[in-house]
Amino acid sequence: MGRETLLTLLIVLFGGLVMQPLALLPWRLRPDATPRLAERRAWAQLWAPVVPMLLVGAWLCGWALREPDPVRTRFDHGMIIGASLPFAVLALRAVLRAAWALVREPAHLPVCTVGLWRPRVVVDPLFARQLDEGPLRAALEHECAHARHRDPLRIWLGQLAADLQWPWPRAHRRFQAWLEWLEHARDDEARGHGASATDLAAAVVATARRLPPMRAVTRGARLLPGEAALLGDPRLLASRIERLLQPLPEGCGLSGPSGWSDAAALIVLGLVLCAALALGAAYGNDFLHPFLLWTRSA
Ligand SMILES: [Zn+2]
Repeated sequence: MGRETLLTLLIVLFGGLVMQPLALLPWRLRPDATPRLAERRAWAQLWAPVVPMLLVGAWLCGWALREPDPVRTRFDHGMIIGASLPFAVLALRAVLRAAWALVREPAHLPVCTVGLWRPRVVVDPLFARQLDEGPLRAALEHECAHARHRDPLRIWLGQLAADLQWPWPRAHRRFQAWLEWLEHARDDEARGHGASATDLAAAVVATARRLPPMRAVTRGARLLPGEAALLGDPRLLASRIERLLQPLPEGCGLSGPSGWSDAAALIVLGLVLCAALALGAAYGNDFLHPFLLWTRSA
């Protein structure tokens, strides 16, 4: 078998074996966190089962760097292909859903932020004319916060992470929890930039009123991956409005801890992946050679 083909099969097999049990674990958020910190923690928890899979992939790539092509070790091709097939189906489903999210028609929400690489705020002109100046400014502050944090891209990636952990309900709940904290965090950021909470609540309610009732009931106006909107999940409307009508707690808004930045997290992840690659190149064959031989005797 060719080296790259075997490498792909092994990444799918070992990656799936590592990620699926981790997706079952009950990751819990500390209840005392501010929305900004809770959003960062929920994001980290959504990706926690995926990161070990990336490490396994890097380790296997390191092994492949020193492996001849084609692989000389004799092994049971059928066993490797058969064992990796279920995980390959899950990965293919996740990739197809991510691709579909990029090409499907937008949701045409009255106020939203669209664009993965260059997020921009889109406002329905008719909706803007119906809103007073204060609520419109508050809505724009909320959307600008989404754009500053590249939330359309993060929502798209978050959906991909959740889909990779399918079919476990806990992964979907982690994604929904992150989306909820995301809206609270952007509300707080908009308030930190001067938006009035009552204006923001009025804009959110006005957006909810524009939603067709059947859609609200049957689909919960689920955000399309690749879009961030003022409304968020309408099923959480009551709790969100209730929170907006309370004073901004200490440590929320633009102050207080926010956890690691995306850049710092990506740098650390890159360094760890490089270390896994080096370890795979140095010691990968010590494990994979006996494993491939074992498939013939099993
Ligand atoms: Zn929003």
